[in-house]
Amino acid sequence: MNVLVINCGSSSLKYQVIDSDSEKALAKGLCERIGIDGRLVYQPNGGEKEITECAMPTHTEAVRMVLDALVNPKTGVFKSLDEIDAVGHRLVHGGERFASSTLINEEVIQAVEECSDLAPLHNPANLIGVRACQEVLKDVPMAGVFDTAFHQTMPMEAYLYGVPYEYYEKYKVRKYGFHGTSHSYVSKRAAEMLNKPCESLKTIVCHLGNGASVCAVKNGKSIDTSMGLSPLEGLVMGTRSGDIDPSAVEFLAKKEGLGLEEILNVLNKESGVYGLSGLSSDFRDLDRAAGEGDARAKAARDVFCYRAAKYIGSYVAAMNGVDVICFTAGVGENDGKVREKICSYLGYLGIELDKEANKARGEEVTLSTPDSRVAVLLVPTNEELAICRETVALIKK
Ligand code: ADP
Repeated sequence: MNVLVINCGSSSLKYQVIDSDSEKALAKGLCERIGIDGRLVYQPNGGEKEITECAMPTHTEAVRMVLDALVNPKTGVFKSLDEIDAVGHRLVHGGERFASSTLINEEVIQAVEECSDLAPLHNPANLIGVRACQEVLKDVPMAGVFDTAFHQTMPMEAYLYGVPYEYYEKYKVRKYGFHGTSHSYVSKRAAEMLNKPCESLKTIVCHLGNGASVCAVKNGKSIDTSMGLSPLEGLVMGTRSGDIDPSAVEFLAKKEGLGLEEILNVLNKESGVYGLSGLSSDFRDLDRAAGEGDARAKAARDVFCYRAAKYIGSYVAAMNGVDVICFTAGVGENDGKVREKICSYLGYLGIELDKEANKARGEEVTLSTPDSRVAVLLVPTNEELAICRETVALIKK
């Protein structure tokens, strides 16, 4: 089956076409600056990357451009659009309604719309992508794969906040967690790498990208994760603050004369390692600057690593142990110094990192020594493949 995987944001649309039999990407790319001017990036597997500037007033034109590129006689990967068998959409927030992926119909769209209160930045944009695909690919079946679904197995003590219970009853204010597709994929791959059933393992997945979260996976199920009602909770991230005392919001609002929305914008977009370093959200820049003696760049990395190590420690407590710790996403897959620093806090678990193995980047590797009491693995995530698999499974059902 050929599956078009779509990850749609408010002004961008990332796509990948995957052949589900070989599990190989046939082509991938993105549309940027939708509604502004428009740029299409298209790359067939093994071919050159093409960049085309073209007007994309709405996401519908963006989807049309992607499809035109896929059937382009010279560089396309299909002869006709009939070769697209299904579309898998990444959907961010499924609330408590969606504990698994689902085929998309009008009722599902409405239910996702109802979750938009919880994810006003993401869900409406995701649905625009769904509508645009429906318009252009009329009869092709579509599936929605939620970032929150994997975490719906969290027990009540993990997902309830210590606030008046009626807020949960009335508004469903609770921890939901995100990056679920990645945490699920990586924890399963880790079990395969260790040649053990997922159901017998206590796994901690550190998804460290621009957005970052840690997840405790016990016997194959998410039992806790660091992001919350929104992706702002938890780790210090590229530009997000992660956990802070809520009183600081009021304090800063008063001192800086900012409204609630402006403060939240600061916490989402101007904080994290970017805000701490005053330099960049990119760990490559921080590494370079720290190497040149920039104390704030070093501090930003140290804060990031310390917070990650604290979450790992808390999930060891939550699971009463840990068998394997996985690193994934942009920072986790590429930055050996960050991995080493985080693991340096975990010696009490009997973790020993193999310094040579820890030089690896972007490939499946065991990073711990054979004597290490806990396995440490580098497992590159592949959310698109996970979405493709879910989509195929739903359609075959
Ligand atoms: P997201 O999907 O959340 O946008 P990614 O998982 O792609 O993020 O991670 C992007 C981040 O990964 C970059 O901001 C950068 O900090 C980090 N990164 C990417 N490549 C490297 C590298 N070679 N060394 C260190 N960090 C890297």
